[in-house]
Amino acid sequence: MEMKEVPEPVVVKPTDVKIRMSVIGICGSDIHYYTKGQIGSQVVEYPFSVGHEGAGIVVETGESVKKVKPGDLIAIEPAMPCWECDQCLAGRHHTCRKLRFLGCPGQAEGCLMEYIVMPEESCFPLTGKLTPDHGSISEPLAIGIYAVKKSGGVKDLKIGIFGYGPIGMSVMLAAKAEGAESLYVTDKIDQRLSVASKEGASGIINPLTEDVVERIKHITHLGLDTVFECCGQQEAFDQAIEVLKPGGRLIVVGIPEFDLWSMNVENTRRKEISIQFIRRQVDCVDTALEMMKERRISVGNMVTHRFPFNKTKEAFDLVADYRDGVMKAMIDF
Ligand SMILES: [Zn+2]
Ligand SMILES: [Zn+2]
Repeated sequence: MEMKEVPEPVVVKPTDVKIRMSVIGICGSDIHYYTKGQIGSQVVEYPFSVGHEGAGIVVETGESVKKVKPGDLIAIEPAMPCWECDQCLAGRHHTCRKLRFLGCPGQAEGCLMEYIVMPEESCFPLTGKLTPDHGSISEPLAIGIYAVKKSGGVKDLKIGIFGYGPIGMSVMLAAKAEGAESLYVTDKIDQRLSVASKEGASGIINPLTEDVVERIKHITHLGLDTVFECCGQQEAFDQAIEVLKPGGRLIVVGIPEFDLWSMNVENTRRKEISIQFIRRQVDCVDTALEMMKERRISVGNMVTHRFPFNKTKEAFDLVADYRDGVMKAMIDF
């Protein structure tokens, strides 16, 4: 990773918004590109800039832009759909056929740079007491909110969250706000589990020292209604199938580093488990900002580390090595 001087991007289209970045959060997917150079078939060609969880200040707008004006503090939604394909027309613009996503190889450079230009639709003004950190966190939080919504709701249900990085935490915050009855969290890092405790987890389990399946069955007797897999690990997927009630739902949010999931045919079939995969989120950035603004969700425990822009490599190395109890590391410009 290195710093590079590149030409400043310019406003070309009437809907373009030029933004001076204030902060970006480092995401697990940025780390996949950094350490492995790819996620599945999306392979990085160097040089390439990553980053998609950002907030900044509008410095210039194209002639037709109405949503924001220079000086506005904004959250950036990293997805740039075409708004014309079958997916976009069906309201599924997160799976747009011609999607461009910040920091996604072959689609768009990331926002880990001082200035970027984005379409107006991707700009969400930060109003009230919302800070640039809230803006940046709205991206992972929106994924948690979307996963909970896509699960069919969690009110009064017994929920498992397997993997408690920033996405697991986002699911937790959303599930809590939506009235889940109890929340059982697993992670291999004890510091993360203590954050989950602080957030009100009913039970925390470290799979390195305890049997997740036995412990959850022991506490809940009948099992869990819904499990959110948030770490992309086969063992978490298998544990989820084991601890789910008949008719339970497995929501797969984690991004694995392998190519094929496997599943126990007998258990998934006999229990009639529903499995729902999650692809990022759609239309939940507004909700995320709204919920933080109304204090229905507090993300105070999410950011654990901060680095200046010129120390970006240190930040990435820290997150890649899961060092020092890191949840979310932020880069300040
Ligand atoms: Zn992200
Ligand atoms: Zn489209």
